[in-house]
Amino acid sequence: MTDTATMSRKGDFPGLVTETGDAWHYLDTAATSQKPQVVIDAMANALGRDYATVHRGVYGRSANMTLGYETARRRVAEFIGGHEDEIVFTRGATEAINLVAQTWGLANLKAGDRILLSTLEHHSNIVPWQMLRERVGVEIDVCPLTADGAIDLDAAAEMLSERHKLVAFAHVSNVLGSKLDAGRAADLAHGVGAKLLLDGCQSAPRMAVDVAALDCDFYVFSGHKLYGPTGIGALWARGDILAAMPPWQGGGAMIDRVSFAKTTWADAPQRFEAGTPAITEAIALTAAIDYVEGIGRDVIARHEDMMVAKARAELSRINSVRLFGPEDSAGIVSFEIEGIHPHDLGTILDEENVAIRAGHHCAQPLMDHLGVAATARASFGLYSDEADIAALIRGIERTQRIFG
Ligand code: PMP
Repeated sequence: MTDTATMSRKGDFPGLVTETGDAWHYLDTAATSQKPQVVIDAMANALGRDYATVHRGVYGRSANMTLGYETARRRVAEFIGGHEDEIVFTRGATEAINLVAQTWGLANLKAGDRILLSTLEHHSNIVPWQMLRERVGVEIDVCPLTADGAIDLDAAAEMLSERHKLVAFAHVSNVLGSKLDAGRAADLAHGVGAKLLLDGCQSAPRMAVDVAALDCDFYVFSGHKLYGPTGIGALWARGDILAAMPPWQGGGAMIDRVSFAKTTWADAPQRFEAGTPAITEAIALTAAIDYVEGIGRDVIARHEDMMVAKARAELSRINSVRLFGPEDSAGIVSFEIEGIHPHDLGTILDEENVAIRAGHHCAQPLMDHLGVAATARASFGLYSDEADIAALIRGIERTQRIFG
């Protein structure tokens, strides 16, 4: 059942044991993934024996760090199919979406223009657009979902008009695991002259991504969900779009020439990276990408598909469990158990060394749509295995006994 190519990787992750050395059944990888030792080592070396600043130093160590930092940009570009000049390092997906809203959005959108989002978006793909709405008066439309929880592109086709300038959709839902038909979304957006932004937070770690094949205009993701460190993520924007975008934050490293009379900007992507960047995080992100590619994203996707199929089958055998999302969700299973609040379930599972997420998952409009305040969510990673699912099921059965 379990893919041995990924099964054998559990030992690479020091975070997957408890303080007492027992197995820790970590089922919250959609929130953030555990880190393999190679990533931890890369980070420690970058912070220790190799540490120096980038871009400014004339000494060898700084030149090496600069090389490491720019190698990370190239590796990210290769990983998602873009060009290195199209990669802007950000703190994560949230910052990347805010960057697009506040630079491209402010420069290109005006009152009366429309943005199409969907019911299942993470707050970080809702709130930045609402902030833009406050500033320029754009209108936000919300695309509904199909019965099994995917973004309903037939409905999007009906809704889109020439007034839409942007479609911003999650590539994979962080609650339902549902996958977007990105190619069709791109056709629909481009058909009315709108740009397509894909929130790739949940797709980058669990499927092969090629921005050229996806035909999107912006793609964002967070390193910490991709087995890398927190504090680093990326925005990919099509070269011509990025080149025309005005800067966002001002400061060192994003300028060409500064004088009190006039300051000129560096070219993209440096124009969007004011200040000393997340050097060590970028270098560790390279290690994470190398690690993931060493296993293969197809292998990881197949493994997570098996985990989802197994988890859904086991959960649906339990009385009073309601499963959300499609059968073929990508690595994520949300559910509720009648009469047991997800927080109570999460707390009791914790006693069994099982970590799930319980709450609204930063997707309150989706919770409203589902008619719940919260769901329980089990999410898988390349290291998940059948023992994790068995522990989850045991924990749920115990919780049901406790609740009578
Ligand atoms: N979008 C999606 C779909 C997510 O799952 C998340 C993280 N839960 C985000 C955006 C925000 O990512 P970050 O907090 O790393 O910026």
